[in-house]
Amino acid sequence: MSEHEEASGASRHADRLTGRERRWVAAAAVGPVVLAVLVLAPVAAVTGAAGAGEVVGASVVYGGLLGLAAAFVVVDRLRARQCPACRRRPARGQRRCRCGYDLLHRPRYVCDQRHTIHFEAGVCGCGRELQALPTATGLASQVLVSLRAGGWLALFLVLAGVVIYVLEGRL
Ligand SMILES: [Zn+2]
Ligand SMILES: [Zn+2]
Repeated sequence: MSEHEEASGASRHADRLTGRERRWVAAAAVGPVVLAVLVLAPVAAVTGAAGAGEVVGASVVYGGLLGLAAAFVVVDRLRARQCPACRRRPARGQRRCRCGYDLLHRPRYVCDQRHTIHFEAGVCGCGRELQALPTATGLASQVLVSLRAGGWLALFLVLAGVVIYVLEGRL
């Protein structure tokens, strides 16, 4: 147990994202805001329903929310490539980390009191036998489902807005 804590403490700076990865996160966060401006500005210009200030405001709020979720997914995916045992980031596709950890199956173990997560089978610091945990899938899949649901909802609202405009004869 103390061995793992030492390992993660000593190399805590190693799990920071690299400059290139940080640019990916920034792009994921800002991209939706730009996209929202590109989508909303022509609609506002055609319908005359909103001024430039409202378009920018709506883009920042809704694009920003989407950007937050997208950046979260990107960070989660980048973190998932990290070796959980030693916090090094092995090259993509590598099956075994330099520390010997199996990156393909990513085994994790806890005692039945769930004191600390261990990355090797054996005995917990409390003396209980360690049991294998089911494989972690990360949060990104749930976030992706919500993003997809949000995308369909946004599309539905835009289409409903267009239908209302057409019915009122304003387009
Ligand atoms: Zn490792
Ligand atoms: Zn224990």
